[in-house]
Amino acid sequence: VKERGRAGYRFYHKKMLDTSRTEAVMESHLRRAIEKKELSIHYQPQVDLDTGNINSFEALLRWNNPKFGFVAPGVFIPIAEDSGLILEIGDWVLDQVCIQLKEWQNGGFLDARIAVNISSKQFKQEAFASAIKKYIYKYELNPQALELEITESSMTNIHETLSILKELKQMGVIISIDDFGTGYSSLSYLRRYPIDIIKIDQSFIKEIEQDEKDEAIAKTIIHLAHSLGMEVIAEGVEKKDHVEILKAVNCEKGQGYYFSRPVPIENIIEMYFC
Ligand code: C2E
Ligand code: CA
Ligand code: CA
Ligand code: CA
Repeated sequence: VKERGRAGYRFYHKKMLDTSRTEAVMESHLRRAIEKKELSIHYQPQVDLDTGNINSFEALLRWNNPKFGFVAPGVFIPIAEDSGLILEIGDWVLDQVCIQLKEWQNGGFLDARIAVNISSKQFKQEAFASAIKKYIYKYELNPQALELEITESSMTNIHETLSILKELKQMGVIISIDDFGTGYSSLSYLRRYPIDIIKIDQSFIKEIEQDEKDEAIAKTIIHLAHSLGMEVIAEGVEKKDHVEILKAVNCEKGQGYYFSRPVPIENIIEMYFC
């Protein structure tokens, strides 16, 4: 840090330093979060807009640390990604989710599905597809019970992406594109990749009832998805108005606070599996 210069300048650097120090401390805590059992998974239902039925849930990671309290995924996931810890954490999430799916399968809930967020670091690991295969075999899962949420930022290399997705699709797992509409990739990939589901980013849904442009974009995404044989899940559904608009354009599923916040597994079991 430069010693001279205006106070503001120094302050700026001190602040930067504090931030990076906090992140470094967080990282060292995150490194031990699995063994200290500080991680858990919450589940958010994905609701069939026509029938109100629920058979799928998104797994969302939670971190509760004695020093920092509950840390938002928006804060700790980037730290996990930068440090490479996301690989170990991502494995842990997949394992937990597969254990849960196995339990449901054994209990006769054969069409229950869980969607898992896959970071681009995980997706780009050479052994990613075979790791998924191992989980399916290890727990003897119906592959359709597992959904992988991939973002457009993972799809930087068309040929690699295509071959990984094809391998996953051959196994029978479900593939969805997360945060659709926020990436920079061209739409041409949609006709090449074996994608089952498009998740419309919540930024297009939030004000859909009062913003004609948001509504036009959401409708266009839904039509596009349908004409390519894909299903659509709208994220960030917070109001009845959202549901009505989405139903009118045949959006298959909705996910958001209107239906339920992400909740611990006990709540899910109590509500849907008893
Ligand atoms: P995401 O995958 O887009 O997940 C949806 C986020 O929107 C979640 O935030 C969820 O709690 C929130 N949400 C759901 N319904 C509503 C709603 O109606 N309104 C609003 N405003 N928000 C809603 P969360 O749990 O804080 O997760 C943030 C992000 O962290 C996720 O965004 C995902 O990118 C990442 N993340 C979470 N768990 C994992 C994980 O296991 N692995 C990886 N790689 N990333 C994860
Ligand atoms: Ca997601
Ligand atoms: Ca999303
Ligand atoms: Ca996101």
